[in-house]
Formats: sequence, C-alpha cells, structure tokens
Amino acid sequence: MPAKEFRHFINGEWVSSTRTFENRNPADNSLIGLVHEAGKAEVDAAVRAAQAALKGPWGSMTVAQRTALLHKVAEGIERRHEEFVAAEVADTGKPRALAGHLDIPRGAANFKVFADLIKNVPTESFVMDTPDGGKAVNYSVRAPRGVIAVVCPWNLPLLLMTWKVGPALACGNTVVVKPSEETPATATLLAEVMNEAGVPPGVYNVVHGFGGDSAGAFLTAHPEVNGVTFTGETGTGEIIMKAAAKGIRPVSLELGGKNAGIVFADADLEKAVKGLGRAVFENSGQVCLGTERIYVQRPLFERFVAAFKAHAEGIKVGDPNQHDSTMGPVISLGHREKILSYCRQAVADGATVVHGGGIAQVPDHLAEGAWFEPTIWTGLAETSAVVREEIFGPVCHIAPFDTEEEVVRLANDTPYGLAASVWTSNLQVAHRLGSALDVGVCWINSWFLRDLRTAFGGAKQSGIGREGGVHSLEFYTELRNVCVRL
Ligand code: NAD
Repeated sequence: MPAKEFRHFINGEWVSSTRTFENRNPADNSLIGLVHEAGKAEVDAAVRAAQAALKGPWGSMTVAQRTALLHKVAEGIERRHEEFVAAEVADTGKPRALAGHLDIPRGAANFKVFADLIKNVPTESFVMDTPDGGKAVNYSVRAPRGVIAVVCPWNLPLLLMTWKVGPALACGNTVVVKPSEETPATATLLAEVMNEAGVPPGVYNVVHGFGGDSAGAFLTAHPEVNGVTFTGETGTGEIIMKAAAKGIRPVSLELGGKNAGIVFADADLEKAVKGLGRAVFENSGQVCLGTERIYVQRPLFERFVAAFKAHAEGIKVGDPNQHDSTMGPVISLGHREKILSYCRQAVADGATVVHGGGIAQVPDHLAEGAWFEPTIWTGLAETSAVVREEIFGPVCHIAPFDTEEEVVRLANDTPYGLAASVWTSNLQVAHRLGSALDVGVCWINSWFLRDLRTAFGGAKQSGIGREGGVHSLEFYTELRNVCVRL
C-alpha cells in the first residue's frame, strides 16, 4: 500500500475523488503515492469556493491584514523547509541541494516580495480642467480580478506556482491551482501551510489531475474563473488561450523556449563555461530559461568545446539525496524517451556527439529511474529539428559564428523568444546584443540572476504578458479610474 494520498484542497478541506493515478519518483520509479483526479464536479466545487471566499472575510480584509497572512505563509514554508525539500526531491528527482537553495526559499520569497510590493505601489492621479472652467480629479484604484486559475508545470513546481499565487493573493484574488500531474506534492503541502497560517477557506484551492479532458481543461474553461495564468508548453498555451477566449478572460502565458547562449572570442572562457554549464545542465536541463543552443565565435570555438566537454564530464549524475550529486534524473521515463528520440535525430542529421547522448549509468537501486547523460553535440545544420525545437533536457548543440551580425540573426531565428545569455568583455557588444536579441530576458556574463522586481516573460511564442514586480499587479488587478468633479 502506498504511504501517501494526494487529495484536492477545496474550501479549506481535503476532498477525495473516486479516480486516482500514480505518482512515481523519477530517480527509481518507486511509487510515492496516489493522486486523486478531479472531475468536473471537484473543479466546480473549487471554483465556487474561490468565488464565495471573495465575498467572505478575505474580501473585506485590509491590505495590512492580508499581507500579514502572506508573511505567515512564507514563514510556514520556511518552518517546514525540510518537508518541502523532501517532497520536491521525490517528485522531480532534482538534487537536494538545488531544491534546498532554489525551489523552496524562492517559494517562500514569492509570498513576502509581493506582500511587501502591494503596500508600496502608488496608482496614478490627474487633475483636469473642465470645459466650464472648473476642475476634476481622476485617480485609479486597483481591484482584484476575482478567481484566478493557476496551471503549473513540473520543472520548478513550488517556485513557479507561488510566483503566481503570491501576487494573486497579495492583490486580493482567490486561486484554484492545478499542479502538474507529475508533481502534486508541494502544492498539497502548501495547503496545510495555508490552513496553519489562518488563510480563510476558499482562498487557496488545489485540484489535481491531468491537462486535456481532465482537471486542467475543466478549470480553464470554467465560466466562473476570471483570469488564467499558465506556465508550460507553447502548444498547451494555445489551447488554454482558446479556452479563456470564451467569456473574454485575460491570460498570462509563460511558455517554451529554445534559448541561445552566445560566447564572443573576448569572453572569460572559464566563467562562460561555468555559467553556460549551469544554463544547459542545471535541473537536468529542465529550466525554461536554460540554454540549448550555444554559439561560439570561431577563434574560441575549439577551446570552448573542449572546456565544455570537460565541464560535462565533471557533472556527477546520481542519487538526488546524496550530497555530491549535481544532476538528478529527468522528470519521467516518458520524457526521457522524448529526449532519446532527439539524440537519434541528432545522429541521423550528422551530429558529432561530443559527450553523452544516452542513458546515464547509475547504481542498481536506481536502474529503473529516468536517468540521462549530460549531452553535447556539434556539427548540426541550423535547420535540424534538434537545433530548432525545445527538447527540455540536459542537452545542447554548439556551433561556431564569425560576426556579431551573424550571431544576432542565428539567435533570433526561432519562433521562441524567452531568454539569452551573452558572454563578452566588450561593453558595446554587450549593450548592443541586449537590445538586438528578441527575448524577454537577456543576461550578460550571467544566467538566471533574477531580481523579482523586474519584468519576466517571453517574446514571440514564448509567452504573453509580463509578471514580476509591478508588472504582476497589471495582471492580477483591474485598474479602475474614478473621476470626481470638484
Ligand atoms: P505542459 O504544457 O505539458 O503542462 C503544464 C500544465 O498544463 C500541466 O499542469 C498540465 O496538466 C496542464 N495542461 C496540459 N494540457 C492542458 C489543457 N489542454 N488544458 C489545461 N491544462 C493543460 O508543460 P510541462 O511539460 O509541464 O512543462 C514544461 C514546459 O513548460 C516547457 O515547454 C517549458 O519551456 C515550459 N516552461 C516555461 C516557463 C516560462 O516561464 N516561460 C517556465 C517553466 C516551464
């Protein structure tokens, strides 16, 4: 019998479904527990609870009371840090150190940052002259949108979910969260923290299940949902946008990418290798902002490839709970199959396999897990599907370039536009690329440095809308103008 069951959290209470599905640990394919699968009835109950909560104590709280509660939620996550880390590690297979210093602290920070922000952001005000020689004053007020559906991916489960839930609640909305079917644990644990903190029933609801024809689709199509915020694949984003069109509900979409890393010949080689080593391999390459295409200026190309290979050889793929492991498995055996198919495609397209290219060797007790080698290719044409499509694994292709103009063209030649990481010691080049690359975030001599006050989102097919800092308020509130004739 599995030890755990992941139930829905609706109106402050645990709710079961008759249907369940298995949640497995990608490190060894062992059964973590059974997840209850929401049907239309559970989703409807969650949305109705969230609507009712808007009119209950939550809706009449002062900003100070609301934000104090969110600080208590953050403290609750911090107090139960070890439990959150263990849950995230079991669900995703990511190294304990990564979950411990990134996912869980950022999960808590997302509540604090937006609670503090909402208290300090002014709204606009204009005094106008009226035709009869008098005056009127206009001022704006922010109102919550209502019930926000939060549909989440599996790669950074708590971090990306709270990145939406934090600002949504800070702005006075209520939420119904649909975690990824691969990673139900931390959203469920957060429900316990919400109750402990005294967040009123119905403010934070969780429904488990799959996407199409399941909880995800039922939630995003629900007519009483007032806005949908989604992080996941571009194709899913298109489906969700269609669902939200019915009833004219706003969407915030953070979608896929095929991000470029660009290394100029004058870059600090050691720092570029280390930085892009993280960008390619951290979280087994399953970071939306990660790099899958690296372009290196020709004079440095051979040296970079050799140094990057040495970096990959130094990665310790192994048990996420062992302190010296630097890379865990990928999320599932199904996802590994997808990555393997790109490996076969790379070879068929004439790639040179510089490193990896297949299933990683691990001790016998982990043999059933979704292990993969850090993988580096060179020699592919830019037209290869391996260079064009998002793979979302610990893999990259490295190609040489000659001029700045050429590399800008190569980097921008994609339907995606999420992120880029540029390495150079030339300030002019750095700033020129900062504006020439068609992406939502461009890092210079760095990667994944995130100031939560800055705008975050994708260009082109990598998303719609910006979140972070005041930009999150634009999505999670409706700005009203009040015009008073004086
Ligand atoms: P996914 O699109 O398969 O699933 C994401 C969520 O959507 C899951 O909860 C899933 O159940 C749900 N879903 C699937 N089909 C649905 C439907 N028809 N209606 C409603 N909900 C549905 O994505 P994933 O595999 O979980 O995550 C990986 C993807 O997420 C990658 O493409 C990655 O680039 C992207 N991502 C983007 C960002 C960003 O900030 N831009 C961040 C993280 C991940």
